[in-house]
Amino acid sequence: KYTRLGGTAPKGVLLIGAPGTGKTLLARAIAGEAGVPFFSMSGAEFVEMIVGVGAARVRDLFKQARENAPAIIFIDEIDSIGRARGPMSIGGSSEQEQTLNQILTEMDGFSGREGVIVLAATNQPDVLDKALLRPGRFDRRVVVNLPDKIGRKAILEVHTRKVPLAGDVDLADLAATTPGLSGADLKNLVNEAALLAARRGQDDVRQKDFLDALEKIVLGPERPLLLTHDDRERIAYHEGGHAILGLVVPGADPVHRVTIVPRGQALVVTYQRPQTDRYNYPEAYLRAKIVGMLGGRAAEEIVYGTKTTGAESDIEQATNIARNMVTRWGMSDKLGMVQLASRQNGYLAAGFAGPKPFSEETGRTIDAEVQRIIDECHADAMRLLAARRKELDALVAALLARETLGEQEILEVTGLPPAPELASRPLSEAALAARDRTRS
Ligand code: ZN
Repeated sequence: KYTRLGGTAPKGVLLIGAPGTGKTLLARAIAGEAGVPFFSMSGAEFVEMIVGVGAARVRDLFKQARENAPAIIFIDEIDSIGRARGPMSIGGSSEQEQTLNQILTEMDGFSGREGVIVLAATNQPDVLDKALLRPGRFDRRVVVNLPDKIGRKAILEVHTRKVPLAGDVDLADLAATTPGLSGADLKNLVNEAALLAARRGQDDVRQKDFLDALEKIVLGPERPLLLTHDDRERIAYHEGGHAILGLVVPGADPVHRVTIVPRGQALVVTYQRPQTDRYNYPEAYLRAKIVGMLGGRAAEEIVYGTKTTGAESDIEQATNIARNMVTRWGMSDKLGMVQLASRQNGYLAAGFAGPKPFSEETGRTIDAEVQRIIDECHADAMRLLAARRKELDALVAALLARETLGEQEILEVTGLPPAPELASRPLSEAALAARDRTRS
């Protein structure tokens, strides 16, 4: 159809997406739908190979496909061979480079009439050698995103086909509860739920099994740990601080549960999950997140007047968001919309060994701006928590008695309504003036 009008059919298609999003399945499905043979290899296989073997395998693969054309070739994890060739490799070429060159040679050898299409998958398109992306090679790019709510429901339906479900199982509700989970994660969720149901001696899998399995996947298994009375109380205040702020900071994610039972890596966790799938984060939402993260330490400071190491991962996450706001998302009025860190390496400003892409002075401003955001959010956390001391004490008493509280229990114990809607932060005066100028 294409060649009739003088066009050339595309030869290479690059599937881009996070691990577990189903790039391999998609490639297989294309071959299945088209009813053509499917030849695949994984880039990772070549990393440790003896020099020359990779290139030979590539030659072989393309030869087979050509003989069986029309056919589809699939190269998984192409980034492990297709990484940009650095200046280091002048002289003797590495196995990786030879394999890459062979792929390029084979693709250039196609006229487009052989009926062979090469699909490749990667989760790091930005590290790929530019030569791979040139016209006539992988010039089509298909982004395979994490599934949305409808997609997640469909995926759950597929994986539960052979699972006996109890009448109370609501896959649509499970899909709504699992934003951010990939197809592979959902498959794992179904399996964990089935294992739980079996361990509980049931004949079918119930909604509760799914929800418990989800908690286990997201938070890690519960583990017993003896805590002193003082530790328990301090932890309860720390977690209570997070939970209260989850209720009073506008735009905060709803607090799903709060517990002082240690789980997985984290000593304790307050589990907040976003209401909906998000593709775009407003500045006010990011600030709400930071305020909530600093709430654990703020509660400890208010109640005990001292600090502990318990806030380490909170501080790490909060700093990370604040730094990204300043260096990647143009949310500092002082620095404006200048990219100061790469998307790939968010820590460019903090731990990059090579030359920084900005001056010493800008570096100092970045540090100061990150500091300012954290300080402002910390002050917000202190102020909001101090005003809710009564509710915080009530929550802590309930936590010490019951250890784990669900969403409804948290609302009952504190008597607080769920967090109000997000109001966006108004633009700065300079930005307002600029906007008015463009209007007039
Ligand atoms: Zn914390």
